[in-house]
Amino acid sequence: MSINSPITQKVLPLVARAEPDELSLWCEHLSQALAPTHTVKLLAELSVDECQAAEVAIVANPDPKDLQSLPNLKWVQSLWAGVEHMAAELPQDGPAIVRMIDPQMANTMSEAVLAWTLYLHRDMPRYAKQQSTKIWREHALELPSDRTVTVLGLGNLGKRSALRLKANGFTVCGWSRSAKTIEGVETHSGADGLAKVLSKTDIAVLLMPLTDDTRGLINEQALAHMPKGASLINFARGPIIDDTALIAALDSGQINHAVLDVFASEPLSESNPYWSHPSVTVLPHISAPTIHSTAAKIVAENVAAFAQTGKVPESVDRQRGY
Ligand code: NAP
Repeated sequence: MSINSPITQKVLPLVARAEPDELSLWCEHLSQALAPTHTVKLLAELSVDECQAAEVAIVANPDPKDLQSLPNLKWVQSLWAGVEHMAAELPQDGPAIVRMIDPQMANTMSEAVLAWTLYLHRDMPRYAKQQSTKIWREHALELPSDRTVTVLGLGNLGKRSALRLKANGFTVCGWSRSAKTIEGVETHSGADGLAKVLSKTDIAVLLMPLTDDTRGLINEQALAHMPKGASLINFARGPIIDDTALIAALDSGQINHAVLDVFASEPLSESNPYWSHPSVTVLPHISAPTIHSTAAKIVAENVAAFAQTGKVPESVDRQRGY
């Protein structure tokens, strides 16, 4: 999308539902990265004129009502990569939503994908269970090349993760909405492609956005396509998995182990069965947190490019939902 006039905005509002400590940390990093051309202020600190002049705002889980006080907003820069709440809450004809696309986040995510794939590959959950009952028993070791790890979602995070798994000797497949070519990775797309790729997958890594199409995608049928004893890593969004189906598949042994970093409701409630399930590793949404310093630089680059060209950076396709 292109915009006719270059902006004169000097103050960037930060609109976020976050703890005060988190907000001041962001203000500090963003102010440093955006100086000397722009300053960053919390919405409540903006004058009426500054609200009027705002064509860009920096956001993290913003209250849509807060954005209404910025009548000339053209785009919002999210500090997060996942924007499904914002995409659902903001009007379709509202400001363009620019996601956080940070190469450092892709590196951090690929590190987490490799770490937890190795955890499953080297049977760590099984040895931990054995230790808890003082069992000394070794199990045959498989080569990484004998394990097929499939990355579902081959975007900014998924592609880097697939390449890192490949570099570590795994047999890697990938699946995305549109067809992709990635050297050394067997790629699939579409609904048929999903069933086909799951049928040969030992470890599935979820890295696609939550949209109308992906909600509940990993259901009883999808889990049944996987070979018995396969495992799952969810680093994307909780509602992509049908929890009832996953728990049934874990109980029956269809799925051997699930590493879950994201949940339908976070923080996970004390009564949630995942906490105590013997075949589940619960992580508190930590696989790839936004790094303040590198993310602030991405924001500064996008803002500077917009100031120069008047072009809104690549934004979320509101129809597609990501
Ligand atoms: P991205 O660059 O937009 O990539 C998304 C990928 O998913 C693309 O390959 C896309 O296919 C694919 N996809 C989307 N809808 C699909 C569908 N219906 N069927 C098949 N494939 C589909 O996103 P990203 O930056 O890699 O981030 C992915 C997600 O990771 C985020 O949305 C967020 O939810 C999650 N995340 C989690 C954490 C964490 O700490 N746990 C941190 C950051 C992000 P195409 O290539 O064909 O478009």
